[in-house]
Amino acid sequence: MPIATARFDGKIALVTGGSSGIGLATARRLLDEGAQVVIAARGKPGLDKAVEELNAGDRLTAVAVDVADSSDLDALVDAIRTRYGRLDVVFANAGIAAFLPNADITDAEFDRVVATNFKGVFFTVQKTLPLLADHGAIVVTSSWAVHRGVPAASLYSATKAAVLNLAQSLAAELAPRRIRVNSISPGYIETPSYKANVSDAAKAAAVATVAAGRLGTSEDVAAAVAFLASDDAAYINGQDLLVDGGLIAAV
Ligand code: NDP
Repeated sequence: MPIATARFDGKIALVTGGSSGIGLATARRLLDEGAQVVIAARGKPGLDKAVEELNAGDRLTAVAVDVADSSDLDALVDAIRTRYGRLDVVFANAGIAAFLPNADITDAEFDRVVATNFKGVFFTVQKTLPLLADHGAIVVTSSWAVHRGVPAASLYSATKAAVLNLAQSLAAELAPRRIRVNSISPGYIETPSYKANVSDAAKAAAVATVAAGRLGTSEDVAAAVAFLASDDAAYINGQDLLVDGGLIAAV
């Protein structure tokens, strides 16, 4: 669908998890709307492929970063400061799917999931804040699973609930700088991660529970992120936006 507006002309945006799925679609949307975009993810091949796909020349920078590693985040912030001097939008989206029955979650698995899904988002936001312009916007990625009890999701959902609450708390804390902080809660979104983790039978069962009658696309979520990050959402702060085709509300 052609984009009629350029809400991000002259803006600098960071998208973590920008090499795949929701992050990649959001990077594309922000670029289409005029932003200069920095994408961050761990894997160099994934980043190289994303750069090729996005084909945005020098309006796009890709940085290999593990958000669970604070020194990687420091290097990312240094690279952004050197290249752009500031940020206007931070989309702290990098996350991993992790669904295991509660009894099977080991200490190591707990640390792995918390390190990316909560610690990674927490420090992405904390470390980029000094670069974020007053009146900037932060969006973090929570999940539909926060809005309902889901079997095998006790750890994953708890990390995503933490992220949602982080957004709410920071919305209040950052009010003096007029920085808005919101979260999105994607529903069943057919990203590479979703496809890898969910069988065809489970997908069909999932679709049957969605009012929209289909799985979501990364572009569905990207449109919501771009809205929340834009001045169109200037009076929306500390909120969570479900992008789930009616999954939660319709049941
Ligand atoms: P993908 O697996 O398609 O993309 C995940 C992205 O995050 C990749 O770019 C990946 O690159 C990056 N990433 C993962 N771990 C790290 C890390 N430690 N440091 C830096 N980058 C990392 O997933 P989705 O697009 O589906 O998911 C995006 C977000 O949406 C996640 O937070 C997920 O929990 C959330 N979500 C997704 C839903 C869905 O149905 N798809 C539903 C609800 C929430 P690399 O592996 O190279 O680092």
